Amino acid sequence: MRLQDKVILITGSGSGIGKSTALLFAKEGATVIVNDLQLDKGEETAEEIRSAGGKALFLPADVTKPDSVKPMVDRIIAEYGRIDVLFNNAGISGVGALHEIEPEQWDKVVNVNIRGVYVPSKYVLPHMMEARQGSIINMSSCVAEIGLARRALYAATKGAVLSLTKSMQVDYAEYGIRVNALLPGTILTPFVENYLRTGYDDPEKAIASIKTRQLSGDLGRPEDVAKAALFLASDDSKFMMGSPLYIDGGVTFG
Ligand code: NAD
Repeated sequence: MRLQDKVILITGSGSGIGKSTALLFAKEGATVIVNDLQLDKGEETAEEIRSAGGKALFLPADVTKPDSVKPMVDRIIAEYGRIDVLFNNAGISGVGALHEIEPEQWDKVVNVNIRGVYVPSKYVLPHMMEARQGSIINMSSCVAEIGLARRALYAATKGAVLSLTKSMQVDYAEYGIRVNALLPGTILTPFVENYLRTGYDDPEKAIASIKTRQLSGDLGRPEDVAKAALFLASDDSKFMMGSPLYIDGGVTFG
């Protein structure tokens, strides 16, 4: 098992990629701390892991709020003594050309997608620094690298996450901490279903257009990203530091 006895916090793991990763990490021997805003979904993920014989605890928290995240981190440390891996996965979409985006929507997406990486990292890092080891995985996106229609706001936040990853790596390398980023293409999750439904006049046409851009000819699945996250969480990736890892069906370089 590749994550035997590791204590791993995954934000936003009540759904989609985070959930799929939580299930895979537990199968690989990790104790998974499932975090989400949605109480029912978070508990569901943790329960699914436990009923399959794995180890999981659901701790609800809003990743943008220090007074919500700090008690969560304190509880994990009190209970398990350490956090080996932090997967900053929680994120939200924001669809529209810039002139259509309202300032409130801008602030919300920036807040969750960028501050939501900063806040958990801020409280987990001192424990990793003390332990002189750790792996942080930040969820970016291939839109950090390529232009896609109606994705400017979202792309700006994911570009920021990629920049953050590189600079974080420089600051924490001396503590034995690795910080890498995942850059998925379009992965079929509730997040994508929602933005296709609300952000485009013709969702079928939007899907067809996304597919034609991908060398794979099809969209990705949450398990595809979970397997890449497993690589970054495990010691198999010990020589990867501050790097982007693309899981995009060839859309970025195709
Ligand atoms: P999802 O909507 O299925 O899951 C995201 C989860 O994050 C939800 O359960 C939600 O409740 C939780 N969440 C949202 N705000 C939160 C907050 N403030 N605090 C705690 N939890 C919060 O989405 P997904 O597709 O699995 O996306 C996961 C991540 O992957 C996101 O960061 C997204 O931007 C990124 N991503 C997704 C795709 C894709 O095509 N699905 C592609 C590239 C990157």
